[in-house]
Amino acid sequence: MNISPDALQFIIYGAIALFVLGIVLSILARSKGGGDDEIANQLEKALPGAQCAQCGYPGCRAYAEAMANGTASCNKCTPGGQDTIDNLASILGVSVPTDESEDAIFTPRKVAIIHESLCTGCTKCTRFCPVDAIKGSPRNAHSVIENECIGCNECVNKCPENCIELVRLEPTLANYNWELRPIRFKGTN
Ligand code: SF4
Ligand code: SF4
Ligand code: SF4
Repeated sequence: MNISPDALQFIIYGAIALFVLGIVLSILARSKGGGDDEIANQLEKALPGAQCAQCGYPGCRAYAEAMANGTASCNKCTPGGQDTIDNLASILGVSVPTDESEDAIFTPRKVAIIHESLCTGCTKCTRFCPVDAIKGSPRNAHSVIENECIGCNECVNKCPENCIELVRLEPTLANYNWELRPIRFKGTN
């Protein structure tokens, strides 16, 4: 088969153009991946490192990668608390999500507090607490032991002075109650 010089020139230039295009595309792909990796590294460093999977991902690295590639929001790490969310948002260059209570996988822990200035020390509430989380002597102001309270709400409406309130406890690594929220990995009991 005879190929004309023009056709040969067209084939050679075409092959060179495809070769160069391939190199450019591969460099672009690699540089994009590197960027995601770098951001994932920064995000991972900002996470607590507990590897508890409570964010819905199997560990901090997986969650960091999901944030880096845009498939997870930065408010899923409950043990990390608000400071962690703020740091993650800053690394990602996004504003801090305001809908974390609706969006989060795990609902925040709630505990009772007693407004002590209103408390008459009638002791009524102590009779209803299933875990003895309310302390105080008769005719003195009572208080709730935060670490013991399971947020059952049993005491709140029993107070004749209306001085007990259930409040959301912002989770931090210091106050997170691991026993109340046991970790269950798939395939384990
Ligand atoms: S919830 Fe936070 S600490 Fe636990 S694995 Fe996820 S990112 Fe790590
Ligand atoms: S909310 Fe429940 S556990 Fe907490 S102090 Fe009241 S009764 Fe006790
Ligand atoms: S029931 Fe109310 S007033 Fe009585 S001890 Fe408890 S908190 Fe205080």
